[in-house]
Amino acid sequence: MASRPTDLAPSFISHAPGHWPEVEAEQWNDPRWQLRNRIDSLAELETRLTLTDEERAGVLLAGNKLAMSITPHFFNLIDPEDPDCPIRRQVIPNINEGWTAPEEMADPCGEDSHMPVPGLVHRYPDRVLFLVTDRCASYCRYCTRSRVVSGVGEQHLDTQMEAAFRYLERTPEVRDVLLSGGDPLLFSDDKLDKILTRLRSIPHIQFVRIGSRIPIFLPQRITPELCAMLKKHHPLFISIHTNHPRELTSEVRDALGRLADAGIPLGNQSVLLNGINDHVEIQKALVHKLLMCRVRPYYLYQCDLITGSSHLRTSVTKGLDIIEGLRGHTTGYAIPQFVIDGPGGGGKIPLNPEYVITREPGRVILRNYEGGVFEYAEPTVIPEDVLSGLHDRALETA
Ligand code: SF4
Repeated sequence: MASRPTDLAPSFISHAPGHWPEVEAEQWNDPRWQLRNRIDSLAELETRLTLTDEERAGVLLAGNKLAMSITPHFFNLIDPEDPDCPIRRQVIPNINEGWTAPEEMADPCGEDSHMPVPGLVHRYPDRVLFLVTDRCASYCRYCTRSRVVSGVGEQHLDTQMEAAFRYLERTPEVRDVLLSGGDPLLFSDDKLDKILTRLRSIPHIQFVRIGSRIPIFLPQRITPELCAMLKKHHPLFISIHTNHPRELTSEVRDALGRLADAGIPLGNQSVLLNGINDHVEIQKALVHKLLMCRVRPYYLYQCDLITGSSHLRTSVTKGLDIIEGLRGHTTGYAIPQFVIDGPGGGGKIPLNPEYVITREPGRVILRNYEGGVFEYAEPTVIPEDVLSGLHDRALETA
């Protein structure tokens, strides 16, 4: 478990300014400064961190696959003394990304084959995934959409906004739109406001979700102005993405608090990653801190079969063991649903440890989190003569 004891503590530490002692607080807290000063070249990275040979080769290879880019805020969470640091391994490329295992795919969720309009994925009848941008504040090395995200790979995202809006307008069965990408919160307030306003003008769209890792990579972007704009578009939900308790700093907690104060229900999606968070104590610390940040742990994903991810993927059994280690041992609200996105476009498939021992006519035999065995009797039909007796008694008392 490559984590420090402080990672497991239910406390929120500020890491600013860390590697940037020369930077004034005003600059540090400016999201534009954070974006302008992202680490996106080998030379820059090597001035701040001693790389392993595997990382240096990984950075050199990343240029035509998935770009490297790390906000100073997120970079500060890296422990420079630890080559297995769980933050470092999420965002610094590694030579292992250059190998595609036989089971891996460029589009593991089969999104490209479900696009009626470029950039709009319509797989389930009543909801769509709207890929509004291919850019993020930082890039995750296991990104399921790395075929298009960051703009350096072979494939490019060519979202046609107007065509997508028109498709939504003439498709009344769509009631739920998830804005994703890339990261929609990278857009200016004005641009995002226009997109949300247009969606809100479509009567059959009942609610909108935004998927974003900005609150984690760039909490400075969650300004009061952004929150005031988002608040106009309720019902609006936001799914954040965080994998390790160290990511939940005091700045992130405050940013999430601003979103929650704007009335936005917040959920978290984590990806199970080898040596990063595939341990029950790390997951427990993460979900407890999420609840303290007013975020409901929502999904724990088995890492998709994305090309070049075998070094970051872990076994399904570990995920099941984590759920087993949470259920009954902590608050029900803290337990995410463990899922696999069915490879090739199967959608989310829930996975749970087996709590049903047998199912027989009239009864189910169950086990609880401590291994205790319990019998639950299915409903018994009231016998006819008893029912008729009850009717007679009711008439007598009338
Ligand atoms: S923030 Fe999301 S879309 Fe962007 S690189 Fe990470 S996983 Fe991919």
